[in-house]
Amino acid sequence: MCRHLGWLGEPRSVASLVLDPLYGLLVQSYSPRRQKHGLMNADGWGVGFFDEDAAPRRWRSAAPLWGDASFASVAPVLRSGCVVAAVRSASVGMPIEASASAPFSDGRWLLSHNGLVDRAVLPASAAAESTNDSALLAALIFERGLDALGDTIHEIAAADPNARLNILAGNGSELRATTWGDTLFLLRRDEGVVLASEPFDDHEDWQEIPDRHLVAVTDSRVDLTALKGSE
Ligand code: GLN
Repeated sequence: MCRHLGWLGEPRSVASLVLDPLYGLLVQSYSPRRQKHGLMNADGWGVGFFDEDAAPRRWRSAAPLWGDASFASVAPVLRSGCVVAAVRSASVGMPIEASASAPFSDGRWLLSHNGLVDRAVLPASAAAESTNDSALLAALIFERGLDALGDTIHEIAAADPNARLNILAGNGSELRATTWGDTLFLLRRDEGVVLASEPFDDHEDWQEIPDRHLVAVTDSRVDLTALKGSE
């Protein structure tokens, strides 16, 4: 189970989102506060953001985030108005390699999966970046299109009732997320919106998103829809 974070708003540094907060992804990589599955997230990390031409850029690794001095040195000058980042705790039997770390990309979208799904219910895909469940699930979501995200999650949950399917995706001008089996929190600021598996500080403005919901963030508008099967 991993922890992920998204930002949509004014351009800001990747360090200010991932490394600087009191309980940000850096701290969550060795000491998450709300993680129910797995103790730490030491099996890799990834940071994705969109450049001025709205092209996705990624920096991923199979090593723990806390040991990456090169990333820590450069992250303060990486700035973007749309960021999708994650630290990974690999599920049993899954490969540990940079290409298995979120965010995955189809060239337009960046996408992270926080959870676990039986690979037997996911179609084999030549487009998948790795053989872990999250990479296969990302390939399926990209193939179906992000407008069908809710339907795809519902279908996978029906095929694997034990699946945990928290998704976080961004395309430069929008964030989309699902809650299905794990936590997600929202922080609204005048400059933009944060979505995160767990709050990165103790500010009282963090709001918990209910389970089995779809979240869409555009500009500073946040839409919440109950997913099918969430009775
Ligand atoms: N099932 C995921 C994997 O091993 C676990 C990490 C996560 O929560 N995305 O890739």
